[in-house]
Amino acid sequence: MKNVLLIKYGEIATRGKNRYLVENRLIRTIIERLEPYEGYRVYKEQGRLLVVNEKTEFDYNVVIPLVVVLPGVTAVCPGVEIEDQSIENLRVTALAHCKEQFGDKPVTFKVETKRSDKKYPLTSREVSSDVGGYIFNNMENASVDVHAPDFVVMVELRNNAYIYSRLIPGVGGLPMGTSGKATLLMSGGIDSPVAGFLTAKRGVEIEAVYFDSPPYTSERAKQKVIDLANRLALYTGEIRLHIVPFTETQLKIYDSAPPEKTTRMLKRAMLKAAEKIALENGSMALVTGDSIGQVASQTMEAINAIDSAAREMPVLRPLCTMDKQEIVDIARKIETFEISIRPYEDCCTVFVPKHPETKPKRKIIENIERKIDGLDALVEEAVKNTETLVLKGDLK
Ligand code: ATP
Ligand code: MG
Repeated sequence: MKNVLLIKYGEIATRGKNRYLVENRLIRTIIERLEPYEGYRVYKEQGRLLVVNEKTEFDYNVVIPLVVVLPGVTAVCPGVEIEDQSIENLRVTALAHCKEQFGDKPVTFKVETKRSDKKYPLTSREVSSDVGGYIFNNMENASVDVHAPDFVVMVELRNNAYIYSRLIPGVGGLPMGTSGKATLLMSGGIDSPVAGFLTAKRGVEIEAVYFDSPPYTSERAKQKVIDLANRLALYTGEIRLHIVPFTETQLKIYDSAPPEKTTRMLKRAMLKAAEKIALENGSMALVTGDSIGQVASQTMEAINAIDSAAREMPVLRPLCTMDKQEIVDIARKIETFEISIRPYEDCCTVFVPKHPETKPKRKIIENIERKIDGLDALVEEAVKNTETLVLKGDLK
């Protein structure tokens, strides 16, 4: 008998010929994640993956939190694998598993059996009632409830037999890197890390860009973004964070444009710089945390006036239809919220004009932008002076 983690994955199953590529990608991601820990092996077995440890004790406390956050994983189930599938062995193994999982707690349970080995001498129903009866007779506080049990003890009879009773939901989505790469504009607020997470969940590899405006923005504001990227890396795997020194570009815009237009023009400059970085790193899209109408600066008119700054690739806005509360809920779930609400200013709040236009006109903004002498060169220079950090998600 050995401890295993069963990994269930959903959508991949529908992907025809690409299925193997996508499955292998998920296997590779899990292997990489567990690489620092001794003895873990991952393999494919009839429509799901199994993690085993062939050298040391299987440590669920380490493995579950690392694997359950990977895009593509719909659920994980800690369980045991046995070779000897005789009914006697199924009974004692299931009992040992339940004792380990429930201890002396009063619980209700039922046993469900799946039998892909049709030569097995008992039917699924017979196995379930036999094993269920044995557990019931040998655990004082466990009682059977076939309608709404606290736990369903699963017995799966395949090449080997598997017994498990807990299903821990995962992130879902598609495995990392199966949908290309995108560059996320990440500001340190609540929204952009959520936008990054949702994009990564669809299998998109993420690089991040932060526009830093020292001394108007502090070292601690920058550290906040680094911490956020590190947190995101738990889901996405290693993230490259590009920190772009943007003070001069920003000052140029504030010196040259009417105050009510500067916020949009700054965002346009950010998209232009991010696009240059994205082109270099092989991204196919930019990602921002804009949500329609969330604040006066994110009206449809504003999005329209900003969007045309990116010429070579689409700007994805995964949060555009979400309410603030929906975004906050996700931020809490992925544990970026606490970092995002640290009270350090970002470059937009420092320079924010008293009365930004809520209905800017794209053509007018583009015209003013064109007339600012040396703006493109400053953006170019900022990109050239970018500092890149590689963040690994605080894993071992
Ligand atoms: P967030 O919560 O992500 O900070 P926000 O609600 O504060 O967003 P804005 O300040 O209008 O909204 O920014 C909109 C988007 O522009 C952000 O979600 C982010 O993608 C990008 N952005 C803004 N400032 C920066 C910055 N300093 N560095 C990188 N990206 C930025
Ligand atoms: Mg912000």
